[in-house]
Amino acid sequence: MDLIIVESPTKAKTISKFLSDDVNVIATMGHLKDLPKSKLGVDIEKNFKPDYVVVKGREGNIEEMVKLAKKADKIFLATDPDREGEAIAYHANELFQENAKGKISQDNVKRIVFHEITNEAVKKAIESPRSINKKLIDAQIARRVLDRLVGYELSPLLWKKVRRGLSAGRVQTIAVRLIVEREREIEKFKPDEYWEIFCEVAQAKGEKIKLTVRLVRIDDKKADVSNKKDADEVVAGLNKAKYKVLAINKREVKKNPNPPFTTSTMTQAAASFYHWSAKKTMSVAQRLYEEGLITYHRTDSTNIADSAIKKVRSYIEKEYGKKYIPEEPKLYKTKSKSAQEAHEAIRATKMKAIIKVSGRYGKDAEKLYGLIWNRFVACQMKEAIYDETTIEVEGVDGKKYLLRTSGRITKFDGWRKVIKKTGNNEEQELPPLTVDEQLKLIKVIPNQKFTEPPPRYNEASIIRTLEKLGIGRPSTYAPTISTIQMRNYVEKKERKFYSTPVGVAVNDFLLANFPDVFEYSFTAKMENDLDEIAKGQKEWEKLISEFWIPVGKKLKKVEKNAKRVKIEVEKLGKKCPTCKEGELVIRIGRFGKFISCSRFPDCKHTEKYIEKIGMKCPDCKKGDVIIRQTKKKRKFFGCSQYPDCEWASWRKPTPEKSTSSS
Ligand SMILES: [Zn+2]
Ligand SMILES: [Zn+2]
Repeated sequence: MDLIIVESPTKAKTISKFLSDDVNVIATMGHLKDLPKSKLGVDIEKNFKPDYVVVKGREGNIEEMVKLAKKADKIFLATDPDREGEAIAYHANELFQENAKGKISQDNVKRIVFHEITNEAVKKAIESPRSINKKLIDAQIARRVLDRLVGYELSPLLWKKVRRGLSAGRVQTIAVRLIVEREREIEKFKPDEYWEIFCEVAQAKGEKIKLTVRLVRIDDKKADVSNKKDADEVVAGLNKAKYKVLAINKREVKKNPNPPFTTSTMTQAAASFYHWSAKKTMSVAQRLYEEGLITYHRTDSTNIADSAIKKVRSYIEKEYGKKYIPEEPKLYKTKSKSAQEAHEAIRATKMKAIIKVSGRYGKDAEKLYGLIWNRFVACQMKEAIYDETTIEVEGVDGKKYLLRTSGRITKFDGWRKVIKKTGNNEEQELPPLTVDEQLKLIKVIPNQKFTEPPPRYNEASIIRTLEKLGIGRPSTYAPTISTIQMRNYVEKKERKFYSTPVGVAVNDFLLANFPDVFEYSFTAKMENDLDEIAKGQKEWEKLISEFWIPVGKKLKKVEKNAKRVKIEVEKLGKKCPTCKEGELVIRIGRFGKFISCSRFPDCKHTEKYIEKIGMKCPDCKKGDVIIRQTKKKRKFFGCSQYPDCEWASWRKPTPEKSTSSS
């Protein structure tokens, strides 16, 4: 009887389907050992030796695992193909030795990895087992110890200097920093005025076909119109000018499909299409992976297995015809220098376009699968070809005005066959005009515009930025983004991230006192160093000591010398009803926003914070619709009359259509 060890019951169930009855599959339910919660668990004096202890609640699993392992002929550690998975495998093996020394031979314990949970992949993995990779474990330990030192040693400092209960994080702080800095750019931003001027013209003869063109140059100089006075002058000139078709340029434009998904691009796509958080996307992807429907979802590689390319090419030929297959399979270079141990892009494992998944995440799993499947198939199809036409119009009235428009039509849809276009203004066919043809002006359309501040980050753009800076990793995007919200450092409103006063205070304090540690390039280098440890090019203890010794010294100085930071508060513009002296302000506590007196701690007045959306409750019609939060910080809409009125909804109620007579 053999034993296979995996992390989760769903994965265990999927694997069991491929194996004969004389194999036991058992789930660890996640990490078996970790640093203790109650203390640092890192011996700084002894070369940062970590003190891994059994995770609370896993004792039963471990007992069962050891019992089965003692009876097993061979033990396969089949945890996920990355550093976390390697660490779980390592700790499982350690527990076998600790609990059944001598009864479990090391020769019988094997590590197997596969990137998809399919019959073929699992069997192949069992045929080529390896031993546990100590380098991957080292990289995992290094990250854990690093984050533990920053978290457990810097947090008490925040308690002293900013507010009790706060926590510091290494990568989280960088994400908060991005959001805070963007907030400040927006505050500082001064919009510039500019004018976009269009002319509607028509053929002077024949069918009188109309065309709208945009002013681009005046007398061979870029048409920079930045105020009303200049705009009026230009409009007057255009109104008097004589027009003709100056040039018609046609060219063929090819558009390649996007590479297959990585963790980063998949979470960005799900955020754009479905407005999902990275955390949700990763949970749904986890389900798909464990059901054997997609390859491993934590990856930064765009590589595709040869066998999968063969399958998808024959699918494309059968389904869409030979002209949709490129001569050679399309290969995508992995952009990330650090591409981790997981060696494949996220793709469907089977050529089924539509799947059925029941239970929790079922409907969402089907949606995400659709995105992944489409992207995978499209990435191996031929490029789309467009005919792009640009028409240049010249207007002359003393000055020479150059106006232009362009449009494109599809010549061959290629991969667009699978990924339909969104929005309908992409395609525009231009009328069949001829060069030198006279045109008549119908009207001039001047539009006053202002430059926009840089946009606030959303779920997709923050991930894109972290990846671009070299800071994000497949295993960290989702936890980083959800942690900074849980800690109230940033909040999401209308899908955009805003920094909170607490977030700003923590960010400014950490940046002022530990400028090196929270530098973008420093954090990127640290992630890179962790990758080098995984490749065996660096020792983890050395990395940690080089990092921590200066920081530890600085910490003592900051503790002694740094001033306490004041958290900015938002004023409500009302007097405190208790002391009649202070003002009511909005503060952010550990449990979210609340209202208190500006004279705290002298006056202890507090009130619940209620965020109204300017709508009456659709049920009782008396209360206001307010935004509330579940214990897990999920926002929902409720009635201000709660508990008298229990109306609640995940969705924003739509204003009632019927006009009330009262
Ligand atoms: Zn007061
Ligand atoms: Zn109500």
